[in-house]
Amino acid sequence: MSDDVRKVIIIGSGPAGLTAAIYAARANLEPLVLEGEPSSTSDQPGGQLMLTTDVENYPGFPDGVMGPDLMQMFRGQAERFGAELQTVRASRVDLSARPYGVWVGDPDTAQPTHRADAVIISTGAQSIMLGLDRETDLVGHGLSTCATCDGFFFRDRDIIVVGGGDSALEEAIFLTKFASKVTVIHRRDELRASKIMQDRARANPKIEFRWNSIVVEYLGDSSLTGVVVEDTQTGERTSVATDGLFIAIGHKPNTDLFKGQLEMKDSGYLITLPDSTRTAVDGVFACGDVQDDYYRQAITAAGSGCMAAIDAERWLEE
Ligand code: NAP
Repeated sequence: MSDDVRKVIIIGSGPAGLTAAIYAARANLEPLVLEGEPSSTSDQPGGQLMLTTDVENYPGFPDGVMGPDLMQMFRGQAERFGAELQTVRASRVDLSARPYGVWVGDPDTAQPTHRADAVIISTGAQSIMLGLDRETDLVGHGLSTCATCDGFFFRDRDIIVVGGGDSALEEAIFLTKFASKVTVIHRRDELRASKIMQDRARANPKIEFRWNSIVVEYLGDSSLTGVVVEDTQTGERTSVATDGLFIAIGHKPNTDLFKGQLEMKDSGYLITLPDSTRTAVDGVFACGDVQDDYYRQAITAAGSGCMAAIDAERWLEE
């Protein structure tokens, strides 16, 4: 445990956390960023953009930029101004009294690892899974939530993407670089994705759609060899062989750490005060996808990270 009380600790290192770090560092707040751990699905350093391919809508990159490359630039910029980044995950927080406590490692130790006057929460969100038997075991064995990470392994194979939103179509389009065929399985007969993504996916000769269908079972022992698909209208079930399945059905905020301490929506997203990143707890701020279930873009996350650092700076001055 450190006796030092930091001015600000930032938990999470996606676009929100690292933008907060850049601004906090430039305001001489000497921020400590607990950036997460690479092995974790919920809080890998760099956040969700580490699992993304081309980012075409981040301003300043007219030719697009790869998600991991963009995050490496964010990181370098935060470090350049003196932010301290630690590749560890917060295991517990105590927001009941100032200075606030943040634990790393064993959450049952009496004393926190770090203490700070202000805490900026930017723990982001993570992929939602289908919740079927053996799902966790099959991740990495034919089952994936990240086309960027795993697409390469499916060269000339037939693969399935589950979902009907922008993520599903983005994954499907990216996977056509490798796969011979990509089938998008969607539970309705209408996509949720934006028009531009729909147009691109529909124009891609390698992409097929299977409408009104849900995956109800994974087939195969140690690796996935197929799935059982149910027609939502007739109830008919069919086995479909596949070499790989990518799940892209949305996200869940990483807020378990804060249960009982911060106000949340039923969906688990943190609640911030209107036009602010302040939570109801003085000195605790939330930014990025952990508090945004509407825009959920890298640029809006970065913008709210900037707001959180400014809100924290002004609050500390007060
Ligand atoms: P999303 O928009 O919430 O879409 C989730 C999709 O998964 C929906 O089609 C939903 O079906 C389906 N789904 C949800 N639960 C399911 C289940 N249990 N079984 C089967 N299907 C299920 O999530 P997203 O695609 O991850 O996108 C999130 C946000 O990021 C959106 O605002 C999106 O526009 C944005 N985004 C943008 C880009 C881009 O612009 N390049 C890329 C990725 C994401 P229903 O349609 O029936 O609800």
